[in-house]
Amino acid sequence: MTGSVSTSVASSWIDGTAVATGGGLHQVINPATGDPVAEYALASPADVDAAVASARAALPGWSGATPAERSAVLFALARLADRQADALVAEEVSQTGKPVRLADEFDVPGSVDNIEFFAGAARHLEGKATAEYSGDHTSSIRREAVGVVATITPWNYPLQMAVWKVLPALAAGCTVVIKPCELTPLTTLTLARLADEAGLPAGVFNVVTGLGGDVGTALAGHRDVDVVTFTGSTPVGRKVMAAAAVHGHRTQLELGGKAPFVVFDDADLDAAIQGAAAGALINSGQDCTAATRAIVARDIYDDFVAGVAEVFGKVVVGDPHDSDTDLGPLISMAHRAKVAGMVERAPAQGGRIVAGGTAPDLPGSFYLPTVIADVDEQSEVYRDEIFGPVLTVRSFTDDDDALRQANDTAYGLAASAWTRDVYRAQRASREINAGCVWLNDHIPIISEMPHGGVGASGFGKDMSDYSLEEYLTIKHVMSDITGVADKQWHRTVFAKR
Ligand code: NAD
Repeated sequence: MTGSVSTSVASSWIDGTAVATGGGLHQVINPATGDPVAEYALASPADVDAAVASARAALPGWSGATPAERSAVLFALARLADRQADALVAEEVSQTGKPVRLADEFDVPGSVDNIEFFAGAARHLEGKATAEYSGDHTSSIRREAVGVVATITPWNYPLQMAVWKVLPALAAGCTVVIKPCELTPLTTLTLARLADEAGLPAGVFNVVTGLGGDVGTALAGHRDVDVVTFTGSTPVGRKVMAAAAVHGHRTQLELGGKAPFVVFDDADLDAAIQGAAAGALINSGQDCTAATRAIVARDIYDDFVAGVAEVFGKVVVGDPHDSDTDLGPLISMAHRAKVAGMVERAPAQGGRIVAGGTAPDLPGSFYLPTVIADVDEQSEVYRDEIFGPVLTVRSFTDDDDALRQANDTAYGLAASAWTRDVYRAQRASREINAGCVWLNDHIPIISEMPHGGVGASGFGKDMSDYSLEEYLTIKHVMSDITGVADKQWHRTVFAKR
């Protein structure tokens, strides 16, 4: 397979410098081949202390810069990232195994667009109008940077997840320490280097590479940060929240998902079949919003299952650097074993494997697109996050049953409803419990609109103006405008004056 690189990379980026950190050596593996892509030294908890100290020292300067000054640096970063797009695509494909078309048309341009969005948003702070809400005072609102942000990101969209967490924080005037996933640190390190080139002051954006158990734990529970944001699995997110709670720190959590994909009997069946296949297979199904639970009207159920199985059968599986490839490998052999185990246990729990269900004869951690029909509502594949190219399918009897099944999950990140009936569409968007409901589509996102879940999928928002709120405080400033010493309200304290 072509396109893999083999280099030694800087292990962390602290105080505007590439740092050779103190932990043991770690290899980034190309999951399509099993070959090493790069080698770097892991950070240690002591390196986390140094990165947090650097972010703390840089805070007064960056939070005190004008919005226009911050915006100018972030626009420069967007331009540099755009110019380096090919290099970012190559790094992202090599470390994740995602198909090059996805990295080239979604991950990297989406990240550049998001950087541009936050460069603009830096100049659009909002609050209530300054006014005399009490006759004796003028009240105004100040929006201030929360402070030092600790953030931890996953491996599935390494560049985009870094951008989603770091850019609103920088736009708000915060300084950041990010820990990317140890499997995929390369594009986050490149982003920090580009930010430095763009003119971001040293210490504003620090990267500590390292394992979750020590470096992640040290960062999430660090006394000297002000907010902890996290994207990753629900169990780890809960540990991060517990670590941050020891110091009472604010948290924002983007966690797992188990998106329902509800197809009513009046839907455009072909569109629903294509949408389910694309929504289930994007990024090899390693997407928190991926379509995972198709819930389909009984009358069209057999045609839907047969249609998706046919599309799955035509998917081109192979070298992610080849632009004809549709489906790359899963992130690692260990993750493939987890996905395969869940699929293999499904028939014993009532599921019928209609397509896939095995690994192809390729060297990397590939797994074939898999459809499991007739799954039981209590089965593992229906309830738990698989995070692979696997779509489960169940039928429903009426609209109440469809929406009940859609909401029968602890997760609440994303969902879609497929119908040509405007009333059904409105009801589904109102009643499905999720951070995003698509109507007659599944997956598209846009920088102006928020991304974030409810329930076991976490809380808080990435992207859009809403995510700026995660990194800003609201301060009320109330000024007396009477100039008198004996203020009217003092009568509530002193009876005789
Ligand atoms: P993960 O939870 O295993 O790891 C995420 C990050 O946490 C990694 O950097 C890891 O090193 C770190 N970590 C691990 N243990 C830690 C600990 N004890 N303390 C602090 N940090 C620790 O998740 P993953 O396997 O990298 O990513 C897949 C998961 O991410 C899926 O559940 C997926 O749904 C979720 N995800 C959610 C969103 C979203 O926006 N909601 C987006 C992408 C991925």
